Amino acid sequence: MTEELLVVKNLKKYYPITGGVLGGEIGVVKAVDDVSFTVKRGETLGLVGESGCGKSTTGRSLLRLIEPTAGEVYFDGVNVSALSIEEMRKMRRDMQIVFQDPFASLNPRHNIEKILEEPLIVHGMGSSAERKKRVQEMLEVVGLSSYHARRYPHQFSGGQRQRIGIARALMLNPKLIVADEPVSALDVSIQSQVLNLMQDLQRDLGLTYLFIAHDLSVVRHISDRVGVMYLGRIVELTSSAQLYSNPLHPYTKALLSAVPTPDPDAARERVILQGDVPSPANPPSGCTFHTRCPHVTDECRTTRPLFQDVGDGHFVACHLYKS
Ligand code: SF4
Repeated sequence: MTEELLVVKNLKKYYPITGGVLGGEIGVVKAVDDVSFTVKRGETLGLVGESGCGKSTTGRSLLRLIEPTAGEVYFDGVNVSALSIEEMRKMRRDMQIVFQDPFASLNPRHNIEKILEEPLIVHGMGSSAERKKRVQEMLEVVGLSSYHARRYPHQFSGGQRQRIGIARALMLNPKLIVADEPVSALDVSIQSQVLNLMQDLQRDLGLTYLFIAHDLSVVRHISDRVGVMYLGRIVELTSSAQLYSNPLHPYTKALLSAVPTPDPDAARERVILQGDVPSPANPPSGCTFHTRCPHVTDECRTTRPLFQDVGDGHFVACHLYKS
């Protein structure tokens, strides 16, 4: 058994842009552009970046909820990119997703028992009595009660709904959970409860998480390592401790400077990024961050920096990472 549960190699997801008189393809949006990373068993890898940077598309592409344009994804040693639809359906028992908006992802006409039972029915698992028992167990595991099984999604608070979303993801006893902004829609006071629940579940059930968020302070709470995405690419990836104590990429530094710190002496100089995120349909040449980077040089405008390990598994894509 390898240490890595998930290996993602050169993943790409491009969307064609059509137009013109004949409605042909006139360009592509590079939503995910050559992304590679690994996630170890029992680890949480955080993936952060601004809205539209490709982090959610990465999560969905590796689960093949949307089909990637190119690249390979190995899960537990199996190349999932090469699986048939039926083989992939079986593989999804081990690879589940928790969505940002639990309300949108729960069928409002079904009670919780039916919602939670559904994955078991789809995969032909258990008798009716066994499925109902599993529903009761999972409700308790996520901190709800067995009587909640008869209620409907609209009868729950946002935090409770996300607990139901997590219970549904756990019904098939998966190994990997892709958590796509699982607390972004929740009040701050509820966020830490759901994050604590996810950490307890990881410890008790041996889960591996890919945790997607736009907020570095949320990711820090839960991640062993963090990857920072910008315009479809990972620009820095290292341990959580390294990222926060020794960020090397100017974009990471800018994101971190916006995170409030409880220690005023440790307050970072605020870096205000100029301009907006460029369109992924027309990304800048060279380093795609060069239009907003305070340290840009001529080389940055023409040459794409390698995404390289600069020591101890600290990866960064910047020509000036040493300065
Ligand atoms: Fe900035 Fe250049 Fe580094 Fe890109 S390569 S982040 S433009 S210094």
